[in-house]
Amino acid sequence: MRALYLTLVMTGCATPLTALTAHRQVTTPLGPIIIRSAPSASHAGDPAIVAKALEAAGPKLSRWGPLDQAVDLYLMPTHADLESAVRRYGYDWLRAWAQYDDVLLQTPSTWTTDERDVAELLAHELTHCVMYQKAATARDWPKKGIPLWFREGMATFTAEQGYRWLTLEDLAHAYELGDDPIVQAEELYQSKSGAVYAAAHHAFTFLMRRYGAEGVERVLYGMSKGMQFDPAFKAGIGIETSQFTAEFRRYVVWRAFRGARRPAVTR
Ligand SMILES: [Zn+2]
Repeated sequence: MRALYLTLVMTGCATPLTALTAHRQVTTPLGPIIIRSAPSASHAGDPAIVAKALEAAGPKLSRWGPLDQAVDLYLMPTHADLESAVRRYGYDWLRAWAQYDDVLLQTPSTWTTDERDVAELLAHELTHCVMYQKAATARDWPKKGIPLWFREGMATFTAEQGYRWLTLEDLAHAYELGDDPIVQAEELYQSKSGAVYAAAHHAFTFLMRRYGAEGVERVLYGMSKGMQFDPAFKAGIGIETSQFTAEFRRYVVWRAFRGARRPAVTR
């Protein structure tokens, strides 16, 4: 699910992307998506599953506006093919990988029978593409310094995946045990991905509630005008990134989220 810049992604795979010669184009609210798959009969039904999932994911994705460029969606025949293509090994839970204008997806029939899982994952991955395309160019998107919590938070928020992750209460415990899944996101990503995604999801939700979608749009816009993430965040939200993450940490550790559920005081 993680999105990072990979110059070597096109080479050295067990199944190279060039072997995915079957293709069909799907029109979505975001713009055209080209599904590329192996012409073999073994996963013949998958392109249709993916096309249907894209249709289901459309309403969630339309929140951030259309893509500037069409996205190529590669159906990797096996999990090993996916890991090999992204050159990350030992990520058994990884199902897809997004970049500026392509998504590598492990062929759905190898990991789920539920079309909703596929729609949710595609909403997540394509949010990465939309974010990169709104914030940057095909050349500079990996160099904007966008922190993992913001990248993954925007994707999991948009895909409404919060139910998959730890609760805010569980997250408070993680902080109390000494982990900081926002600040240490990169180092905890492989071994404690649940905490990292949970923190990203809740932090982005907190950002949206407190500063609104307009604030997020301003951050993306600032980057599109040449700023790095941190100054764009300051300009768009009004506080430093570090102040925001400290604010979020206090919100979690002090259980300020509990107050939101309390009934109003009555006389
Ligand atoms: Zn992701």
